Amino acid sequence: MTVRVRFAPSPTGMFHVGSARSALQNWIYAHQHDGVFVLRIEDTDAARNRPEWTEGIISALDWIGIERGSYEGPYFQSSYAQDHTAAATRLYGEGRAYYCDCTRDAVIARTGNQHTGYDGFCRDRALGPGEGRALRFRTPDEGETIVDDLVRGKPTFENKLIEDFVIARSDGSPLFLLANVVDDMTMRITHVIRAEEHLPNTPKQQLLWEALGATPPVWAHVPVIVNEKRQKLSKRRDKVALEGYRDEGYLAAAMKNYLMLLGWAPSGDREIVPWQVVLDEYRLEEVNHAPAFFDVKKLRAFNGDYIRALAPEEFAAVCAPWLSGTETIPAPPWRPEAFDVDTFTSVAPLAQTRISLLSEIVDYVDFFFLDEPVRDEASWVKAMKGDAAEILDATADAFEALDDWSAEPLKAALERVGLERELKLGKTQAPVRVAVTGRTVGLPLFESLEVLGRERTLRRLRAARAAL
Ligand code: GLU
Repeated sequence: MTVRVRFAPSPTGMFHVGSARSALQNWIYAHQHDGVFVLRIEDTDAARNRPEWTEGIISALDWIGIERGSYEGPYFQSSYAQDHTAAATRLYGEGRAYYCDCTRDAVIARTGNQHTGYDGFCRDRALGPGEGRALRFRTPDEGETIVDDLVRGKPTFENKLIEDFVIARSDGSPLFLLANVVDDMTMRITHVIRAEEHLPNTPKQQLLWEALGATPPVWAHVPVIVNEKRQKLSKRRDKVALEGYRDEGYLAAAMKNYLMLLGWAPSGDREIVPWQVVLDEYRLEEVNHAPAFFDVKKLRAFNGDYIRALAPEEFAAVCAPWLSGTETIPAPPWRPEAFDVDTFTSVAPLAQTRISLLSEIVDYVDFFFLDEPVRDEASWVKAMKGDAAEILDATADAFEALDDWSAEPLKAALERVGLERELKLGKTQAPVRVAVTGRTVGLPLFESLEVLGRERTLRRLRAARAAL
């Protein structure tokens, strides 16, 4: 039997990091079992049916290495409406489902319980289809449904506690529980790997599989990911969009590695591992049963490690979107023609060791490509006090007198300026750095000045002095 897994997102306009994790878990499982990965877009909610949302899903998958063309699909749930209807009709015809016209209020009035499930009132009323009548699945009165779950073991559900759930609305349209099962059957899915929030649906879905005469899949319900308050990550509260992380400058490799470490660890005492190790070693059976904390700080530190491990030309390549802007990444503050590749290449290694997000590259290098540095007010206030004016004057004079405009002599000159005033290098550097780069933190100063050049450096020092 060929293993067939599927990733079945409902389009929502953004790609949740938890979805990325589910997709990767399916992808890895398929890889490990020479199986097939199927992409199915669950687009039956008409209000959520925009083509660009599907494109967003496909390009998010692409970004994490599940590339178009290397999987089956995308299939669209909306194209399988006839199969859903046929299944509903069959279940009704075989007495496994019945029509019900109870309103929620009527059920509450009968049971006196706000939170109750359906009470089975219409089970034996033999209603036919009609206005205001939903189709409910008749769950067995006895026995139990045992779910075979790679992560959770064998969760067991007493059938008499499973309510008769709705499988089709009164207009005939199928509900998630039914459409999802019918599609999985049509697509010959053998393993359903998804988030734990779907576990309560699973006994119901397994009963549907059995009622429709098919062998249920093996399930794997993976604990959800939570924020620092142990709340399920939500798009209203937390930063969850994969695209947002991408546009801030997280590397796909770092993101993938981090996502797989949620609730799992590779062999040995290591966290950062080549993707191949994850592909070989990841085991759903080993995933921790507790919800996993999505620690953005840790992810960011991870990203920094990944950035530092890049070869120089790789680093330059991954920075490119931030140096020019894209549809989703804002353009940098300099005029495009002011950008100089050679300048960037010479300072890129200095930036590479300092940034943990690719988007930070802009603030590190902008002063090379702007006529005037961006003046960060807090930095200015901090650095331009005390002896600042005198230091700027003296430094400009000392620099002007240099024959050799390179880092070492520049540093020596500034040290002399400080020494004459009994100041530490850091104190002397601060106003110079802010005058030239606009900020108190950044690339190593003297290497930067060497690249920036004599004329621009002196002009900026004098301009800052004049502004004091
Ligand atoms: N469309 C469902 C979701 O996004 C699919 C759940 C499943 O994988 O069965 O939650």
